[in-house]
Amino acid sequence: MDELTRDQMDELRRDLTEGRARLDDVVEMSKEGSRPVSLDEPIGRLSRMDAIQQQQMTLANRGAYERKRRQIDAALEALDKDEYGNCRSCEEPIGYRRLKARPETPFCLECQDAREP
Ligand SMILES: [Zn+2]
Repeated sequence: MDELTRDQMDELRRDLTEGRARLDDVVEMSKEGSRPVSLDEPIGRLSRMDAIQQQQMTLANRGAYERKRRQIDAALEALDKDEYGNCRSCEEPIGYRRLKARPETPFCLECQDAREP
């Protein structure tokens, strides 16, 4: 696997920054969606059951979003320190193709596979 070029690093930094902004939008929206459902509140076309189900979904998603947000922050920090692009487990370069697909990933494919059951 090759080390990243300066251009690739700049591109991935842009991807990470944009990804973070999008994620923040989604988290902001999910906060609205997970307000307590009041019986008196008009909830438009949704039935109360639908509203509750949707609320549970956004709560479950929010955990995943927040994990990803932390990974993006860590990746941007690594970029600043010139440590970006190396696997945090085996310290080999992760490779541009994988980083382009998941710029926030801290691990190379091999180590990621080893971690997931
Ligand atoms: Zn690795």
